[in-house]
Amino acid sequence: MTGGGGGGSALLEVSELTVHHGQLRALSDVSLSVGAGEVQAIIGANGAGKTTLLRAICGLKAPTSGFVRFDGADLAALRTERRVAAGIVMVPEGRRLFPSLTVQENLQVGAAYARKGPWTIDRVYELFPWMPERRRQLAAQLSGGEQQAVAIGRALVANPRLLLLDELSLGLAPVIVARIYDTLPELLASGVTILLVEQDVSQALRVASRVHCLLEGRTTLAGAPADLTAAGIESAYFGLSSAAAPGAAGPAGAAGGAGETQ
Ligand code: ATP
Repeated sequence: MTGGGGGGSALLEVSELTVHHGQLRALSDVSLSVGAGEVQAIIGANGAGKTTLLRAICGLKAPTSGFVRFDGADLAALRTERRVAAGIVMVPEGRRLFPSLTVQENLQVGAAYARKGPWTIDRVYELFPWMPERRRQLAAQLSGGEQQAVAIGRALVANPRLLLLDELSLGLAPVIVARIYDTLPELLASGVTILLVEQDVSQALRVASRVHCLLEGRTTLAGAPADLTAAGIESAYFGLSSAAAPGAAGPAGAAGGAGETQ
């Protein structure tokens, strides 16, 4: 299976998924497999289809063909809220908090279709110790990094088995991004499996056991970070040979450096 091959038993299996937005074919025959307890990353340039893939997995976008299986069951008939109740929860790009609700109220929203499990609002407050003091503050008054933390907390109180993280680092300073990523080990220790979308390739390579590169809706590369070369990633990311790729504008960290892609 193209792009498949996660270790352990597959919690999530995406097979030959094709998704259209109107006439536009946003995803073409994308397959991947994520084992329980893994972190896998989707990388790719703007418009590659990364968000479309996450939206199809959580039921916000119906595929044209192919299937998504979760814990062995085909999800086609399950609406998004049923998928949340089954344990598939997304932190969307841009956070999408309710700006006129408080921190605490935003967290309560996340519990609406919650499974039973270890994550409660109090546990989220332990994960982000600055948060309890700010719980009555409106989400609109928080910094971007604080809003990202609340968005993660809102997802956690649903007690996900599979957490889909879309562009956590977008628009955040590197030190804030590092702090957000520092929370991943605790999420994994609580039994959560993670599939994340990340434009910062160096960040994706650091945290994921397997990386999938999308280009114009197709998987152009997939593998464990140790098995991928900078030239191979650059070529897959841009669809160019590495000699022809615009080196200075290459995907951040593909050659081992740090930085943002945009
Ligand atoms: P980005 O990093 O910019 O978010 P992405 O890799 O997440 O990009 P998608 O947002 O999945 O890419 O978009 C894939 C393609 O589908 C793009 O060409 C985009 O313009 C198009 N697209 C996405 N959402 C819609 C929509 N609701 N209606 C029409 N076209 C869409």
